[in-house]
Amino acid sequence: MDHYLRHLRFGRGRAESTTKSYAGHLKRFERWRQSRGLTWEEAARDIAGHLIERRITPRAHPGRGRGRAPSDAALGPALAAIHGFYRHAADVGEVNDQVLRLLFEVIEGDRLPYGERERSLVLRPRLRVDARPSYSAHLGPPEATADEVAALLEQVATARDACMVGFLAGLGLRIGQLAAVRREDIHLVPPGRTVPGCAYRHGPHLHVVRRDGHPRGAISKSRSTNVLPVPGPLVMLYAGWLNERRTIPAAATSPWAFVSFDGPAHTAAGQPLSTRRIYGIVVDLAAKAGLRHIHPHMLRHAFGAAASDLDIARDVLQRLLGHDALASQEIYRHAGAARIVEAATLISGRLIEGHDVP
Ligand SMILES: [Zn+2]
Repeated sequence: MDHYLRHLRFGRGRAESTTKSYAGHLKRFERWRQSRGLTWEEAARDIAGHLIERRITPRAHPGRGRGRAPSDAALGPALAAIHGFYRHAADVGEVNDQVLRLLFEVIEGDRLPYGERERSLVLRPRLRVDARPSYSAHLGPPEATADEVAALLEQVATARDACMVGFLAGLGLRIGQLAAVRREDIHLVPPGRTVPGCAYRHGPHLHVVRRDGHPRGAISKSRSTNVLPVPGPLVMLYAGWLNERRTIPAAATSPWAFVSFDGPAHTAAGQPLSTRRIYGIVVDLAAKAGLRHIHPHMLRHAFGAAASDLDIARDVLQRLLGHDALASQEIYRHAGAARIVEAATLISGRLIEGHDVP
């Protein structure tokens, strides 16, 4: 188990916060296993029993939710951690493959990164927590939790998808805004410097622009231009995607930031992604992670929830969410720009700090 956590942290370069969250879940699982004297194989057969026990045990540690039992949705990351542990244990021969067959069904992967187009096999967890959408109280909070965002990033197969999840959660973008981003909208300049034609000088940033020319109908909902600071970890995710994007020849001349890979016959490479496609990517990542139904707007809500946990000032949050977009000149020269950059850094740090690209 320690080996798995070290593998996550250093082998796969996962953020310390993810590793910490996984470590907590796995520690509880291990305590439960030992208290019942189960072998790893036996424990694998009764993961549901473990989750039910957690479902009815109030949280003891301080913080939000203390004294309450975790919701079904909150157990999704616990299940993702346990699944990840068993996959790793099978990889290194600590448990036998039978256990994997018990936990996962094998499906054919058809959403592979460019360059790995031969069909391969993907393991999909058999056991899921509240994976089907429903309108019952079991749906959980409307925002994705930081744990859930970490679990989504844990599942991404491409730098593109990591970047999109990162932008949805870490910048709080609407799905239509994400689909409509053009490469020219992202200015990766260090603080104090500008690019020609843009007066913003507070570091890397994204211009959220309303435009009607998106070939797949995506538009930014607010009419005015908004400027969002892009904190370091998100710059890294974007840089990783730009590298990957270079391997798609058809993308070279496309102005759109997020484009398709050379997929199965029905899709062409280098095309802008529709909002529908982005929605599907997020929902599929959640299913792969064994989480509840999570869609892109819940990542924007995660941004809002993190901001509220951090007591971000209302006017700053309004600016970041684009509720209070001023004329662009005012945004560039606004005295509060440093506060906005600081808030953006704190919020995204809560949600996607230090996540590396696959
Ligand atoms: Zn700019």
